[in-house]
Amino acid sequence: MRAVVYDRPNEFTLRDVTEPALAPGDVRLRVVASGVCGTDQHIHEGGFGVRFPATPGHEMVGEVVEAHPSVAEPRAGEFVVVDNVLTCGRCDQCQQGRVGLCRNLEAYGLTAQGSVAETIVVAASTCIPIGDLSPEIAVLAEPLACVIHGMDVLQLRPAADVLVVGAGPTGQLLTQTLVRGGASRVVVAAPTEAKLGVARRHGATETVITDRGDFAASYRRLRELAPHGFDVVIDATGASGVLNALLPMVRDGGTMMIYGMASEDVQLTVSPYEIFRRELTIKGSFAQTNCLSRAVSMLRHGVVSADGIITHRFPLEQYADALQALRDPACLKAVVVP
Ligand SMILES: [Zn+2]
Ligand SMILES: [Zn+2]
Repeated sequence: MRAVVYDRPNEFTLRDVTEPALAPGDVRLRVVASGVCGTDQHIHEGGFGVRFPATPGHEMVGEVVEAHPSVAEPRAGEFVVVDNVLTCGRCDQCQQGRVGLCRNLEAYGLTAQGSVAETIVVAASTCIPIGDLSPEIAVLAEPLACVIHGMDVLQLRPAADVLVVGAGPTGQLLTQTLVRGGASRVVVAAPTEAKLGVARRHGATETVITDRGDFAASYRRLRELAPHGFDVVIDATGASGVLNALLPMVRDGGTMMIYGMASEDVQLTVSPYEIFRRELTIKGSFAQTNCLSRAVSMLRHGVVSADGIITHRFPLEQYADALQALRDPACLKAVVVP
């Protein structure tokens, strides 16, 4: 079968690789679709703990084509999404139920083969059948699962007034989940009007055009909307200029959540006096574990819509173009279809 393989950072080839044998508990999937996200760009550059040789792809939908005799479910012919994060179950974090912070975390598309390939072998226990959900929509299950984990971390108060900064796929899924999850208002701020239009179509109450390099230029408009700030401000950009300009937009007693992935060298400057005096909370949300089935449920019932979010599709041969599309303002979600 063919797969995209990196032997070192920044260089990959599409090549024939030997299909691994099935170990007990494994199934082989024919990859139907594989979403591309910012994490894949970090992997491209050799970051994020990637192990070479590496095949990226962690947002996958597949059809079960073969199961080890030890596997009862899923069965051949079933379409599934995959919980790509593998935890050890032994470390202190796993044993305290904080499995997402496992100290021996492995993941398909990072330390194990990913789905930018024609087939992939995964543990049957990581597969969630999608039933009658279209595989084209199910490819959003992994990023949506990360959003659901974010909601678990956030513990949104009913009727909270929320600002989401960033209208990429993550900002869009966050917005929809916050709207359905009890926020009284979700304001979305981002630089691209077309993306803000998608957010409004899916329930954003207000949108504000911003400049990532000069986020403070948006303060006036945001202050008009929320003179005392927002109960919750979520960064879905990972951009230093945005992150460092958000605290003034948080209402006293409110929460800032760091959801977007910033580079490791980005620093956030905060005044401890301000945190103390204004009783502010800063939360982080990283990846997800055990949230995929809730994501599939939300997509199946139309609570979260994929409409307008998947904008680009590429064959395996064009993986470079799929990565390039991440920088295209016209692109929301790019998907590789082997
Ligand atoms: Zn991703
Ligand atoms: Zn662990």
